[in-house]
Amino acid sequence: MSVNADGWILKSGFVSIVGRPNSGKSTLLNQLVGNKVSIVTPKAQTTRNVVRGIVSEERGQIVFLDTPGIHKPLYRMNERMMRMMLESLRHIDVVMLVVDVSIPGGRGAEFALDLVSRVTSPKFLLLNKIDKVRKQALLPMIERYGRREFDEIVPISALKADGLDELRSVIFKYLPNGPMYYPPEQFSDRPERFLTAEIVREKLILGTREELPHATAIAIERFEEGDRLVKIHASIYVERDSQKIIVIGKGGALLKQVGIAAREEIETLLNTKVHLELHVKVRRKWRDDDQILETLGL
Ligand code: GDP
Ligand code: MG
Repeated sequence: MSVNADGWILKSGFVSIVGRPNSGKSTLLNQLVGNKVSIVTPKAQTTRNVVRGIVSEERGQIVFLDTPGIHKPLYRMNERMMRMMLESLRHIDVVMLVVDVSIPGGRGAEFALDLVSRVTSPKFLLLNKIDKVRKQALLPMIERYGRREFDEIVPISALKADGLDELRSVIFKYLPNGPMYYPPEQFSDRPERFLTAEIVREKLILGTREELPHATAIAIERFEEGDRLVKIHASIYVERDSQKIIVIGKGGALLKQVGIAAREEIETLLNTKVHLELHVKVRRKWRDDDQILETLGL
């Protein structure tokens, strides 16, 4: 049994965050962890890998798994994403299904509910984005979902960090006694290279329109740590020449804007000065190319 400095017995475990695209899973993870672990955009399918975020406190440690949204796979990349999502539900202490209460639940929501109902571990339903609806609208929802065998139903606003202290307390109730799996200062299981690539991808998604983001991927080609400067070369993969033109923008304007925004955030992440170079490369059908997907960790 592991104990903390005051002799308390520690609890620890793994908690999976699942739900439809855009329900707020990554926002929730970042707020719970208090650091940017997972990128967030208003566009669906932003999160491609299972990302771990770690919360360490006196009571113990919670390892959260952020997952790609539950959706019907159209590309091999998406098949892999769904497989990773289902894999993340095995050997888990708690599964939390996040639903966006500000949109009506359609067939997609049913699909997610059915999928989660087959899981044997304790199941929480998180009613997210309560900042967007009136309080009276929540009660009927809690009643309706309550019939679905959830162990806990917790209303939250991930964005406003509302209800998250309660959520952490409820989670600890369900965790077994256990060790600290990660050093307490570590908040992500991903190396800095991965977080760096994700930050570039986030800025690119935020700067472009609906269709393009899914056709792009970022590869870190060089990551040189100097004394007071980190030099980073990153490639932006797109599928067509027309997309390359969009990413570069008029007179290179978009690429420059993405580069500046990304560099600033990477400097915060690494706590040092950063020199960031971005190159756009056309790779036809990279989303169906297992070799490229492998190098991207997808
Ligand atoms: P994911 O696809 O489930 O990971 O969703 P994200 O975390 O990327 O969030 C999708 C969008 O919903 C972003 O624009 C977030 O800012 C927004 N969002 C997430 N949680 C909340 C919330 O509690 N309230 C509001 N109003 N917006 C939210
Ligand atoms: Mg996400």
